[in-house]
Amino acid sequence: MKDLDVLIIGAGPIGIACALECKKRGWEYTIIEKGALTNSLFNYPLNMTFFSTSEKLEIDDIPFISNNPKPTRNEALEYYRRVSTSNNLNIKLYEKVIDISKTKAGFIIESDKAHYQSKKVIIATGFYDIPNLLNVPGEDLPKVFHYYKEAHPFTLQNIAVVGASNSSVDAALEIYRKGGNVTMIVRGDAIGDRVKYWVKPDILNRIEEGSIKVYFNSEIKKITPSEVILTTPNGEKAIDNDYVIALTGYKPNFKFLEKAGIEFSEDGKSIPNYNSKTMESNIEGLYLAGVICGGKETHKWFIENSRIHAKMIAEHLEQNMSDV
Ligand SMILES: Cc1cc2nc3c(=O)[nH]c(=O)nc-3n(C[C@H](O)[C@H](O)[C@H](O)COP(=O)(O)OP(=O)(O)OC[C@H]3O[C@@H](n4cnc5c(N)ncnc54)[C@H](O)[C@@H]3O)c2cc1C
Repeated sequence: MKDLDVLIIGAGPIGIACALECKKRGWEYTIIEKGALTNSLFNYPLNMTFFSTSEKLEIDDIPFISNNPKPTRNEALEYYRRVSTSNNLNIKLYEKVIDISKTKAGFIIESDKAHYQSKKVIIATGFYDIPNLLNVPGEDLPKVFHYYKEAHPFTLQNIAVVGASNSSVDAALEIYRKGGNVTMIVRGDAIGDRVKYWVKPDILNRIEEGSIKVYFNSEIKKITPSEVILTTPNGEKAIDNDYVIALTGYKPNFKFLEKAGIEFSEDGKSIPNYNSKTMESNIEGLYLAGVICGGKETHKWFIENSRIHAKMIAEHLEQNMSDV
């Protein structure tokens, strides 16, 4: 069994930032990542542009050069890949952590491939793996997607895009521009407040001119192979449909955290318990980093404001150097 000082779960931007801090201090560390490097970014829409400018996505002050102020998904993949490879970070890909248990000496970490012993553990597992489901009949049909990649397959098709946030708006606009017939289904009465300020006029104008249809204050009640049934303020409505793209947000793997012994706030937001100065959870030696810290509040933390978690954790570990 490998003996580590720090085991980091998740090779997203923040897990990588944590690994850089460990490497600088000469600690024995490894990242275990269940998918590809920066797996969440890899699964973003192919043509996605970040809302942050590139310098705000930098980790460890390593310059992130992009063609435009706001980088694309491809540029971000290139950046985090180069940061990881040129620093020779210890990363094990395609290996899923299943269980973390506390021992007297630290932690035993069980993955689907091996067991590890580590003095400290950092959980940086993000929130992009578990979509918030609509929980309606027909959601399991193969025409229903909870992730959006690109518009081409949806040309000349009737598409229902569920949601009114950035992801939904970007998908609706892109599919409309590639010749899809787009209807947005929005639970609230307007396009989301957080929609990027430079995109919002575009979607509002497309809705106003009727190029993209929208049902506000409406929800999907049922999905069939050829229709979606909506509940709208004017009663039930059936619309022709080939594909449903439900972009209703994502949530952290709460079961995984609970199993590790993490406690949560009971205010409905399920925010994991951690010390905001050190990022240490309610379990000594077990740290949380990155967007997972927001619990159900997935808009609270970004790369921009959570990249500092890596330094905060490393500084706290340094103070407890005798244990590390
Ligand atoms: C469409 C979209 C656009 C965004 N745009 C921006 C932006 O412009 N600016 C910004 O600052 N933020 C943005 N964000 C938010 C933020 O960038 C991402 O959520 C970011 O990926 C968070 O980094 P992270 O390292 O905390 O988590 P993630 O990048 O999600 O990394 C977590 C990693 O952990 C791995 N993992 C999970 N469970 C396990 C397990 N059991 N074992 C092993 N590995 C595991 C996952 O595979 C994943 O690779 C955006 C988010 C989305 C969804």
